[in-house]
Amino acid sequence: MLEDKDRIFTNLYGMHDRTLQGAKARGHWDGTAGLIEKGRDWIVDQMKASGLRGRGGAGFPTGLKWSFMPKESDGRPSYLVVNADESEPGTCKDREIMRHDPHTLIEGCLIASFAMGANTCYIYLRGEYIREREALQAAIDECYDAGLLGRNAAGSGWDFDLFLHHGAGAYICGEETALLESLEGKKGMPRMKPPFPAGAGLYGCPTTVNNVESIAVVPTVLRRGAEWFAGFGRPNNTGTKLFAISGHVENPCVVEEAMSISFEELIEKHCGGIRGGWDNLKAVIPGGSSVPCLPGKIMKDECIMDFDWLREQKSGLGTAAVIVMDNSTDIIKAIWRLAAFYKHESCGQCTPCREGTGWMMRVMDRLVKGEAEIEEIDMLLDVTKQVEGHTICALGDAAAWPIQGLVRHFRDEIEDRIRAKQTGKVSAVAAE
Ligand code: SF4
Repeated sequence: MLEDKDRIFTNLYGMHDRTLQGAKARGHWDGTAGLIEKGRDWIVDQMKASGLRGRGGAGFPTGLKWSFMPKESDGRPSYLVVNADESEPGTCKDREIMRHDPHTLIEGCLIASFAMGANTCYIYLRGEYIREREALQAAIDECYDAGLLGRNAAGSGWDFDLFLHHGAGAYICGEETALLESLEGKKGMPRMKPPFPAGAGLYGCPTTVNNVESIAVVPTVLRRGAEWFAGFGRPNNTGTKLFAISGHVENPCVVEEAMSISFEELIEKHCGGIRGGWDNLKAVIPGGSSVPCLPGKIMKDECIMDFDWLREQKSGLGTAAVIVMDNSTDIIKAIWRLAAFYKHESCGQCTPCREGTGWMMRVMDRLVKGEAEIEEIDMLLDVTKQVEGHTICALGDAAAWPIQGLVRHFRDEIEDRIRAKQTGKVSAVAAE
């Protein structure tokens, strides 16, 4: 279990003072100018050595991503954009940083922006996060007053402005290029890639989009050293990580833990166990709603909570939003609900997603009621394959994967319901 002395987020639960004074007392904003003095290359190298992989879901190495930004400006400014949209169902970790520990993020923005040659950073915040916006804006204002932002930020010699922008609540604006479109004042629709944002991002300028947690850990990683951070977790899956556990556990919570912790330890130590005991565990969605679910038995006996292990199981760590479902769950209906969500949030630009999400939802609708033929399960699977990988952005995949996970692990249950309906043995649960 991660010891308190190794926690990066020391005010995750808002028990302490979140103001600048409180943050400084907990070690933030300590020697920031000194870190910047060491230079861009040193910072990027340290981030590479730490092994930090992006905490927003894709798990792309952060230091490597930063290194794609131009070293010399061709006349265009560079930007850092922080993705604080956090709209993935089940995900609620970044909000704890923003409302209780906002200075970790702000200091991270300054250092990361310097490392990428950006004098301006935007934080794109989910529209519904009103309290988070208030807390973050208050912290930004404090930093301007204290000279930590603005000209010669924190005495580093680097001029740096930080703006908070709030969205209007569309899930798709969490996709990095849709986010940039929205930030530019347009409709939040994903862009075709290439060009990638590092070449032409915000206003056509070099841009890096990073998740809140990825940026918020940066100052502590640099202060304590890349080796310290790399000492947690398995190789290629290093560091500490915020896990957001919801659903049928005794105590749902957000907790910082070492990467590669076992699922069993995570649940026992922090959540008081599974509701009704481990035998009552049915399924887990380990990384936010877009990753395929896994059966409870695999999760209990073998699961290592990191990028590589979960990918080997054809699922993913995603945002580490762990949704736990016990035996009382109608798993078909649970996945139908996600299908309905993705259908609603599709921006409609590409045909496989626009048509496929609706098609998948309507078949799921009938599977919930058992009003389908057995052959339709394979037909549904076939449609998910036609959507997956054939769209502009990852929403198509996000809509397809939960259904693929359901069929892979709970096919029997779908078939049983169809047979039961056909023979009139039990009444199936109706979708609403
Ligand atoms: Fe829009 Fe869906 Fe295409 Fe993404 S995959 S661009 S959400 S239609």
